[in-house]
Amino acid sequence: MDFVTRFAPSPTGYLHLGHAFSALTAFETAKAAGGRFLLRIEDIDEGRRRPEFEAAICEDLEWLGLTWETPVRRQSDHIADYQAALDRLIGMGLVYRDFRTRKELLAESLGAPHGPQSPVRGGPLPASQEAEKLEQNQPYAWRLWLDEALRRTGPDLAFEADGLGVKADPALLGDAILARKDAPTSYHLASVHDDALQGVTDVIRGEDLREAAHLHALLQTLLGYPTPRYRHHPLILGSDGKRLAKRDLSQTLRSLREAGASPDQVRRGLGR
Ligand code: GLU
Repeated sequence: MDFVTRFAPSPTGYLHLGHAFSALTAFETAKAAGGRFLLRIEDIDEGRRRPEFEAAICEDLEWLGLTWETPVRRQSDHIADYQAALDRLIGMGLVYRDFRTRKELLAESLGAPHGPQSPVRGGPLPASQEAEKLEQNQPYAWRLWLDEALRRTGPDLAFEADGLGVKADPALLGDAILARKDAPTSYHLASVHDDALQGVTDVIRGEDLREAAHLHALLQTLLGYPTPRYRHHPLILGSDGKRLAKRDLSQTLRSLREAGASPDQVRRGLGR
């Protein structure tokens, strides 16, 4: 059986123990399956990515004992690919321009029937209003038009998560943004595109992305990509019981290494 998985960090900070756990889980699962392990650099966030973090990611993963195939795919080198995928969705009438500002969206969500946390749902503006805003050069994001997408796929979309068949519920994330006002693509589109292009059969990542898999399964169906199997691992929490974030500098692999920890100690500490 083919088995291809990946670790796909964003170079916006140093890797911490949570990343190490995720990377090790994917790496060891691939090895146990006699499969392939890829590293992918998800650096589409121009404002936050930094080349020194990308170099540090590779260095830290090597220190931990991981190996991966080269060349490593760096998403910022392939923006035209994601644009082409978006253009296909535009051509199919499955996305719409959203001109609303963050403030407007917040005000709308506060008055939403299901409370402020409810995901955005809607559809394109009437053509005349859209034309007017375009004329005024108002910036916009592209959103998935979920109602239309679900009309096309029908209600019976399913995928495999953690060994079980699951009915996809893409409404969990609503009309997700597929290209931001300030960026030509979004995590969802770029990630789904690359998983297909790289032949990823098994996506192994944190519990925090469980809901995203529902949207990803829908995007894969719309774009004609295969849907990988999904597996979610628990998140590593700090001593305060909260999940680790890039700002928790004491838990970065770098600082642990500087404090004298060995790769073995880190692996054992993570139960690996
Ligand atoms: N770049 C994403 C992150 O760091 C990767 C998520 C994924 O594995 O799909 O959270």
